[in-house]
Amino acid sequence: MELTTGLARVEERIDRACAAAGRARDEVTLVVVSKTYPAEDVRILAELGVRQFAENRDQEAAPKAEACADLPLTWHFVGQLQTNKVRSVLGYADYVHSVDRVRLVSALSAEAVRRERAPLECLIQVALEKESGLGGGRGGVAPDGVGELAEALLAAPGVRPAGVMTVAPLEGAYAGSPGAAFERLAEISRDLRTLDPAATMVSAGMSADVEEAIAAGATHVRVGSAVLGVRPALG
Ligand SMILES: *Cc1c(COP(=O)(O)O)cnc(C)c1O
Repeated sequence: MELTTGLARVEERIDRACAAAGRARDEVTLVVVSKTYPAEDVRILAELGVRQFAENRDQEAAPKAEACADLPLTWHFVGQLQTNKVRSVLGYADYVHSVDRVRLVSALSAEAVRRERAPLECLIQVALEKESGLGGGRGGVAPDGVGELAEALLAAPGVRPAGVMTVAPLEGAYAGSPGAAFERLAEISRDLRTLDPAATMVSAGMSADVEEAIAAGATHVRVGSAVLGVRPALG
């Protein structure tokens, strides 16, 4: 698919969803998920005005970000993050959307302090299926674990709680109901903001459910295939 067309279609979907929800267009940021696509595609999208990109695997993201280091881009890390990858990820990412355990907070904090960088923007990834006792192997914390992670992020130097992130569950009570899932995330976001009013980011919505996410208050939508085309199977 032509990137110009893909991007225009997604921008139009975001425009319409904002209008339908009575929200200003600038309340929603499009983050393009460039995983599996080459740096050349990032470059083309940058020429078209995209500045926010996301990746989910450090092995792929690190060389891609390096290849685009001359461009004024912001990188978001959205995949499950092992502590042994933290050093590499902080070499390019300004946002980590997948903070889901205190041990990871400690590792991010130590590396951010070592780099003497601006506070790392950390989003707490919520796994709503864990409310139904499911999703053990996937990333994300159960909703009742968000408070502890927020406290850890507030207490640790070099990091700050920026908000919450979720992926619409494929199983459990919210399976097939992304709108309901994102409404639940909005509630969790409100609770988080009673602890830290500055933690305003709500990262929700992918190619299939951008509209539901924006209706529920998402501030950042993470869109890959609807902009770039269907990904080749991961091999
Ligand atoms: C791949 C990915 C996306 C984008 O998914 P699409 O369906 O291609 O839009 C968003 N968020 C995360 C965490 C992802 O891994």
